[in-house]
Amino acid sequence: MALKNVISEVFAVDVFNDAVMAERLPKKVYATLMKTIEEGEDLDLEIANVVAHAMKEWALEKGATHYTHWFQPMTGITAEKHDSFISPASNGGQAILEFSGKELIKGEPDASSFPSGGLRATFEARGYTAWDCTSPAFLREDAAGVTLCIPTAFCSYTGEALDKKTPLLRSMEVINTQTLRILKLFGHEDVRRVDCSVGAEQEYFLVDREKYLQRDDLIFAGRTLFGTMPPKGEELEDHYFGSIKERIAAYMKELNIELWKLGILSKTQHNEVAPAQHEMAPIYGTANIATDHNQMVMETMKKVAKRHNLECLLHEKPFKGLSGSAKHDNWSLVTNTGKNLLEPGKTPHENIQFLLFLAAIIKAVDKNAVLLRMSASNPGNDLRLGANEAPPAIISIFLGEQLEDVISQLIETGEAKSSKQGGKLNIGVHTLPELKKDATDRNRTSPFAFTGNKFEFRMVASSMSVADANTILNTIVADALCDIADELEKAEDFDIAVHDLIKRVLTDHQRIIFNGNGYSAEWKAEAERRGLPNTQTMVDAIPSLIDDNTIRIFEKFGVLSSVELHSRAEINYEMYTKTLNIEAKTMIEMTNKKYIPSIIKAIKALADSINSIKSAVATADVSVQSELLTRSSELLAKTKMAVTNLENIVLEANSKEEGKERATYFKDVAVKAMEELRAPIDALEEIVDKSLWPVPAYGDLLFEVYK
Ligand code: ADP
Ligand code: MG
Repeated sequence: MALKNVISEVFAVDVFNDAVMAERLPKKVYATLMKTIEEGEDLDLEIANVVAHAMKEWALEKGATHYTHWFQPMTGITAEKHDSFISPASNGGQAILEFSGKELIKGEPDASSFPSGGLRATFEARGYTAWDCTSPAFLREDAAGVTLCIPTAFCSYTGEALDKKTPLLRSMEVINTQTLRILKLFGHEDVRRVDCSVGAEQEYFLVDREKYLQRDDLIFAGRTLFGTMPPKGEELEDHYFGSIKERIAAYMKELNIELWKLGILSKTQHNEVAPAQHEMAPIYGTANIATDHNQMVMETMKKVAKRHNLECLLHEKPFKGLSGSAKHDNWSLVTNTGKNLLEPGKTPHENIQFLLFLAAIIKAVDKNAVLLRMSASNPGNDLRLGANEAPPAIISIFLGEQLEDVISQLIETGEAKSSKQGGKLNIGVHTLPELKKDATDRNRTSPFAFTGNKFEFRMVASSMSVADANTILNTIVADALCDIADELEKAEDFDIAVHDLIKRVLTDHQRIIFNGNGYSAEWKAEAERRGLPNTQTMVDAIPSLIDDNTIRIFEKFGVLSSVELHSRAEINYEMYTKTLNIEAKTMIEMTNKKYIPSIIKAIKALADSINSIKSAVATADVSVQSELLTRSSELLAKTKMAVTNLENIVLEANSKEEGKERATYFKDVAVKAMEELRAPIDALEEIVDKSLWPVPAYGDLLFEVYK
């Protein structure tokens, strides 16, 4: 008998998806539910009751004891509260297993302990979770047993969104509506719905768990706050796409199986640039499901790592001096008839509809560059963006040679007459096949790159949800499409109007297009000349959430109200402040309890050595020990001064007003003080006896994972 392939054996076994519903729901119920899912019709309780029953039966057969409303509060990670299916039977003494439509569609977790940015006071705790039937329920198995997880949206008693899913769903409706208006102008009456598709590539590091547990910075901050580079880093470029070592391969194999079970189309895996860094990319799906899946991917990566005595680091910059991790958010617009609206075709210069969508996206990104930067911001990403690694903090768009050429023809002559073609690639070896060349090379430095038939937003932080980035992208593009539709719907001659409009929009916003090297100093200067914002930190980006333009757009389309936007700005200031506060406190604790005592021991050993040698042979040469002793003592004194300074800064921070003021204080004052504390300790790490160093070094963490 042929072996059954593991993929076909496990794929989606833990998902209450379309196929399961089609099989288990009465035909009419299934059809009504599909209408709700596909066309956004209101959900009715009768239907929910039937679905709940089928869902429960399915989950029980698979061993589930509990269910949970699974939601995505503003912490950026997921939250859940488990309830068992148990109910007392009416005849006493027995238990029956129940799950009603009401329990399926509505939950009531206490909202007061989730970030709300002032929307909820602790005494006004009510919050609701509402079933999102567009994202399938799934089972999760862990030490707690099997739990039925129901994706939900989370809002306050007064209806404000307290999560990342609600605005994303709203933004998907908005871009659908505006895109349909444009498609109608091009005569595509058959298209009923447009979805944005998202493929989220996830980068991560794996380190040995025993070693991880010896580093408080990794435990509390998710990144190293101290540490120097080992003799070898990533300079040999031997890790990227390198052969995957057994221990990591075993991890990836299990990760894939767990993801496939959850219906996640885990597709690509490879080693990344930095040692101990890897990537997983799934096949893209609808934004909402892709976002849920990415949350599941991150959870599963962490869970599976522990089983292999590894720890998965999702932080944007776990190691100073090595490439950090990103999440590339691949984004496109796809119709229910299966057409990708960002597909240029072979001759993009003739594809007016494509050029119009392209123009809209260029306009949206140019007008909302800081907001887009904000959507990819967290404290960890400040250590990546603009810090001499991909991509810079300046938003620009890479279009590639072919499209750039089409656009310059349009701008210069008002007409595009040709599209550069890719041609054939001759490798010069007869036995190798002749390859067809793409019309455009790649550019890895661009934060927002057109990659054939989608845009790849490469700024997104590796540990963050992709919800914000896609919510903002959808909304700003919808706004640009809306302006365009308003104008074209009134046009007397559509062909002339659309042509003029594309030319005008591209001319007005061409400054955002940049095909060169985003790392270079010249680009920084050039971007400044073009008036493009270079927003160095998250704190500097937060005001874009509440500027007039953002509030206008988000209120116009009902994606987020001014109140919700303000609360989100507050949450971000708070998140930044808390993260930096934890990092600073971790540094202080490690310094006082680990580094200083170890350094004192090392210095004492040197002094003892000098004394004992001198007493044995008074004329002996102890210059090496003396020099090391002097240098270590100097650095120790610097360490002490720096830690005292940081302690004072952390105290002082409490006197600053919460929100923007405190966050700004951390950004301007604490970050520098943290660097000043790190410097002498890192210098000491390079000269102190390794056996006395209190924590595993970078080399141990990065290279010994393969042992
Ligand atoms: P690379 O690392 O070379 O950029 P990957 O294969 O790692 O490429 O990732 C590309 C991602 O883009 C995958 O998740 C893929 O499914 C996704 N993708 C491909 N086409 C589209 C599309 N039309 N819309 C959204 N995402 C897409
Ligand atoms: Mg990739």
